[in-house]
Amino acid sequence: MSSTAELRQSSAPLEKTPLETYVPPARPSLIGLSREELALKLGEIGVPPRQQKMRVQQLWHWIYFRGAKSFDEMTSVSKETRAGLAERFTVDRPEVVAEQISNDGTRKWLLRLPSGDDLQKAHEVECVYIPETDRGTLCVSSQVGCTLNCAFCHTGTQRLVRNLTAGEIVGQVMVARDRLNDWADRDTPHGNRLVTNIVMMGMGEPLYNFDAVRDALAIVADNEGIGISRRRITLSTSGVVPNIIRAGEEIGVMLAISLHAVRDELRNELVPLNRKYPIAELLKACRDYPGASNARRITFEYVMLKGVNDSLDDAKLLVKLLKGIPAKINLIPFNPWPGTAYECSDWEQIEKFSEYVFNAGYSSPVRTPRGRDILAACGQLKSETEKLSARERQALRAMAMTD
Ligand code: SAH
Ligand code: SF4
Repeated sequence: MSSTAELRQSSAPLEKTPLETYVPPARPSLIGLSREELALKLGEIGVPPRQQKMRVQQLWHWIYFRGAKSFDEMTSVSKETRAGLAERFTVDRPEVVAEQISNDGTRKWLLRLPSGDDLQKAHEVECVYIPETDRGTLCVSSQVGCTLNCAFCHTGTQRLVRNLTAGEIVGQVMVARDRLNDWADRDTPHGNRLVTNIVMMGMGEPLYNFDAVRDALAIVADNEGIGISRRRITLSTSGVVPNIIRAGEEIGVMLAISLHAVRDELRNELVPLNRKYPIAELLKACRDYPGASNARRITFEYVMLKGVNDSLDDAKLLVKLLKGIPAKINLIPFNPWPGTAYECSDWEQIEKFSEYVFNAGYSSPVRTPRGRDILAACGQLKSETEKLSARERQALRAMAMTD
């Protein structure tokens, strides 16, 4: 484990609490609200319009810069306003019900959220912190489960229960900062943080939850708050073509595409969304992606599946397809999960594949699997409470194809 992380580990380990003990929040949390929305809430508790802008600045600083967990802490806000806020709202994050720490320092948090329709019921999502020497990356979820059922992905075998709200997405970043003791000290500017990068690569397809992801990332990137710059935020999509250009225009973060296959026939099988948006259309959207340049390359993710997509012919076609796109290729060793039919390619084959694309001029790092011992690696996130039968999966896949 990295020594800084060790230093910041001040809180006691968490044990999973039973789902039956779930108590839904009594009041709504302000986390996830924009400045305009916060001003409206202040209006609701009687703060006059001429004071709202100043109060919003204060709240923003306490919530998103300092990470305050209660209104009591917000000493620069008048007592009266604090009391009014506390009566109606909280600054609660999603409830952390378990924390696992891998022997490589990776941490996984299981978060409990109220269900959309039945407030007495709960859903669970996971987020993962991966410390590296030069950065600390937080892998954030956008949905409970995923409707897209990619053949090699554990999350895809789970029932989609619902989209996360902007507050629940921002809340994951806040939970990580809480647990890692990673908030700014009084008046200390950004810097020396453990969470430096965000990847929208947890559970769910972020471009099927566009508005909440856009609003959440605007808050995460805001320099007066959490302050993680857009260049350090990567959104990964399995290829929701109509929303890719929109993401460039309205979200403006780095883009990663889960390509995984270079022929439509195989991609249809691995990433069923390909039947709706085939490779040529997907790559056209990448060519048109606003803001892509040699300094801001699009990452193409490619999971290495033994005997399925890992031949040198695949590597050759990959290089051909990406011609003219400012791209880097990220080879991901397949992370197996209980019940999968796929195997990870042999190391030798991964190296051959990587060498070919490297010689063709593409940076092609092989992603080191992290947190495997706690099932925290890519594509392994899945909540045990949300099992799905093969028949239900089929029905969901059909639904996803037609909307
Ligand atoms: N839904 C989005 C983002 C979440 S998945 C997407 O598909 O892009 C993040 C990455 O992990 C994707 O590239 C996904 O294809 C990959 N992945 C899924 N399951 C995996 C597994 N078992 N092993 C390795 N990578 C996996
Ligand atoms: Fe969903 Fe991404 Fe998993 Fe496919 S790889 S099922 S899009 S989370």
